Amino acid sequence: MITANEPSTQRKPLPDWRQSLRDAVTDPGELLALVGLPQLAARLPAADAGFAVKVPRGFIARMRCGDPHDPLLLQVLPQLAELDEAPGFTDDAVGDLDAVAAHGMLHKYEGRALLIAAGSCAVNCRYCFRRHFPYAEELAAAHAWREAIDCLSKDTSIREVILSGGDPLVLSTHKLTDLTDGLHGASHVIRVRIHSRLPVVLPERIDDAFCAWLSALPLQRVVVLHANHPNELDASVEAACARLRDAGATLLNQSVLLRGVNDDADALTRLSERLFACGVLPYYLHQLDRVRGTSHFEVADARARGLVDSLRARLPGYLVPRLVRELPGANAKRPI
Ligand SMILES: *Cc1c(COP(=O)(O)O)cnc(C)c1O
Ligand code: SF4
Repeated sequence: MITANEPSTQRKPLPDWRQSLRDAVTDPGELLALVGLPQLAARLPAADAGFAVKVPRGFIARMRCGDPHDPLLLQVLPQLAELDEAPGFTDDAVGDLDAVAAHGMLHKYEGRALLIAAGSCAVNCRYCFRRHFPYAEELAAAHAWREAIDCLSKDTSIREVILSGGDPLVLSTHKLTDLTDGLHGASHVIRVRIHSRLPVVLPERIDDAFCAWLSALPLQRVVVLHANHPNELDASVEAACARLRDAGATLLNQSVLLRGVNDDADALTRLSERLFACGVLPYYLHQLDRVRGTSHFEVADARARGLVDSLRARLPGYLVPRLVRELPGANAKRPI
């Protein structure tokens, strides 16, 4: 008998992700007003240093109102310190410009090719290397992925295609389908990996059409999320993770260690616990790429090692992320 309390398998429809993307806050003054800190507007840098503010409203809703040290706010709010020149902080800190094999394809590591699929993101993270990368010229999705598909099809050493960016999930599902259709004959490619911050900052992106595409792929599927702090992972993110897992994806997370945001053992412990509750395993904890304008986020290696030692003492081994740094020219991410 069907009762009035029938457990609902039908969930509330998701907001349209393209609309949410268009609605992102781009005015730092509005961002500060929304989190109850209008007085901080006077302390914003006059210029955005060429890297505009961009934050989805759903992400802002997870910030603590009235807290200038909120770990989510600090990731997206421009600071005067971005204008500091710090020695060793440059425009192409990880040597990406030397590794471009075809339009938008980076082939630095054996068996894995990384496609710079998109030039933009749903959020602009102030610590990001993307601040200075000349993406407009290097997009794999240009010309219907033609050059990338040719390259991937010819190089039979490539087992895994990594979609990165920018953020590949700002592309339409149609566009993603063009790529995976194009790879149909390349039987040496057995795995697709997506690196994206959208499941966290814009979880409605993981909609039915996307999940249908993902689950139908004749490939192993890995989605690497990017969350830096447990407060980022609310119920909407947890639900997006469940949809990704239902579509057959293995879920991992990478974080960047950021001074003032997540450089404390409690926050990192809670992040790992919260990720696991969402069905996600911690993968990498990155030392910051030394990109101009980000030195105020840097955590010294000795302190970073100490933090990971505390995690190891507190958590099961599978919840301790690998602390790594990317070095130009290296054949893998370098453990610290
Ligand atoms: C980080 C990265 C990869 C992936 O490295 P994993 O250690 O397999 O996660 C592949 N290609 C490039 C260019 C990268 O920067
Ligand atoms: S590439 Fe990742 S870290 Fe950089 S701005 Fe985009 S979402 Fe943020």
